Amino acid sequence: WRRIPRNLAELFEGSRRFGPREFLVYEDDRVTYEAFRRASIHLAERLIADGAGKGDRVALIMRNLPEWPVAFYGSVIMGAINVPLNGWWTGPELEFGLADSGARIAIVDEERLARILPHLDACPALERIYVARPSGPLPDDPRIASLDAVLGAPERWGDLPDAPLPAVAIAPDDDAAILYTSGTTGKPKGAIASHRNICCTVAAAALPGMVNLLRCGQPVPSDEAAAAMAMTGPQRVNLLAVPLFHATGLTGQLVLGLNAGARVVLMRRWDVDQAVALIEAEQVTATGGVPTIAWQLVERAERGGADLSSLTGLTFGGAPASPELVRRIAANFPRAVPGSGWGMTETCAAFAMAVGRDYSGHPESAGYCSPVCDLQIRDPEDGTTVLPVGATGEIWARGPQVVRGYWNRPEATAETFVDGWLRTGDIGRLDAEGYLAIVDRAKDMLIRGGENIYCLEVEHALHEHPDVLDAAVVGRPHPTLGEEPVAVVHLRPGGRVSAAELREAVGHRLAAFKVPVEIRFWPELLPRNANGKVLKAELRKLFVPAGGA
Ligand code: ATP
Ligand code: MG
Repeated sequence: WRRIPRNLAELFEGSRRFGPREFLVYEDDRVTYEAFRRASIHLAERLIADGAGKGDRVALIMRNLPEWPVAFYGSVIMGAINVPLNGWWTGPELEFGLADSGARIAIVDEERLARILPHLDACPALERIYVARPSGPLPDDPRIASLDAVLGAPERWGDLPDAPLPAVAIAPDDDAAILYTSGTTGKPKGAIASHRNICCTVAAAALPGMVNLLRCGQPVPSDEAAAAMAMTGPQRVNLLAVPLFHATGLTGQLVLGLNAGARVVLMRRWDVDQAVALIEAEQVTATGGVPTIAWQLVERAERGGADLSSLTGLTFGGAPASPELVRRIAANFPRAVPGSGWGMTETCAAFAMAVGRDYSGHPESAGYCSPVCDLQIRDPEDGTTVLPVGATGEIWARGPQVVRGYWNRPEATAETFVDGWLRTGDIGRLDAEGYLAIVDRAKDMLIRGGENIYCLEVEHALHEHPDVLDAAVVGRPHPTLGEEPVAVVHLRPGGRVSAAELREAVGHRLAAFKVPVEIRFWPELLPRNANGKVLKAELRKLFVPAGGA
């Protein structure tokens, strides 16, 4: 395969050339590209034998096991629509995802099977459930079968027959996946991603590295190009520290990794000590995901005692990163280039991106657009007037990564997808060079006595204090001002700053009306959802309204 893949089956088939190279590493399991390919095709054949066909939904509810990518590719290469559901969801939430998507088949691990069992009657479309790694006998239900019985143990996947791809015609605009949004601002919505959407996300992520390589005009790549290749190229060893069910892990890491021939080290869940051990043992070149991960690695590097020298790339997105993080990466990781991405489930993850000097030279930005896509800043009130360079307004996005709409949600689709553009609900501004700065979510910003306060700006100011490891600002209702800013802060180990001192430090940087009127300390990292978003609704509950009970 020499041309750029136009669907995920082509992208998958392209990985054939990586044969004996290791692809997936998880605890004691090490799975080569060849073994992975055989297992995925074998599963695809089983799904076809079960009667599943093009456009049928196959739900995937599993922690980051090697079976996860097998189940994903096994379904998309036979034309089905894969539906990764959030592994943190409760039984009723999973019931919503299964029923909403109308999944015919579900591929789950034992823990999630237990969670969905009481809800199966509410999912009439569900005909079969494959369970990965059952530790004992499965429930006596004709729908439930063992995935292990189909595939065998991961160390034996290489012995499965070498079969060709299923003979299914897949067009670039066929649906490949339904990816649920994080549900930060309401009920999660299923973004319908096509094969083209996902392939273009991968192509756009690889673009800066490729263009830099072409530009450097010499056989030895420039340090920037080499670093970009360390994140998207074949030498990459990627520590996958975020859940696979979210677009960031799926497209930004798993699909990109398969395309490049990278080694992907799967973490069951994020844990900084385990991450450090894996980075050392596997000589990881690239990791990241959400900014908290990068913050914790910076803190470990500052503390000393960990060898993180193999890292050449530290990329993050999906949640706000403060400019201070970029500076601290530069100070602590001389070899690791920082990378930033802004995007949404609706853009199949990173949309605006910046890597290396493009980012460290613009630390206030979350990235710029590749030539294949567009960003506009529009008047948030009328939704149509395009605002000039430097003005703050709502971000609108257009490009081949933008999905066609939400599954089963015609009204939300009509509101969000307008004339080929995606209305993002994020507030931002573009500079003259096209760098995008994220100012806040429209739903997070607050108005204090008529003055706009963007929580993000205040959070960034808090992060500039060396004792602060994590910070969030929310609005508290106020009887006359409407709302006022309050903050919750987690200090790094040994941090001693008081609330009064922190308020003073923020007051040196920001106008007085933006300084949080109250700062609470939190004993650990702030509560977040599975996709790394701070649970601001939970934090708001901590504060009693001023003048109220
Ligand atoms: P829902 O749409 O269900 O309310 P959600 O918007 O949190 O949930 P996602 O699609 O996972 O679901 O997240 C996209 C959002 O994450 C963006 O709209 C933006 O607010 C935020 N985000 C992503 N990347 C960045 C970034 N680099 N900086 C700041 N915010 C970001
Ligand atoms: Mg959203």
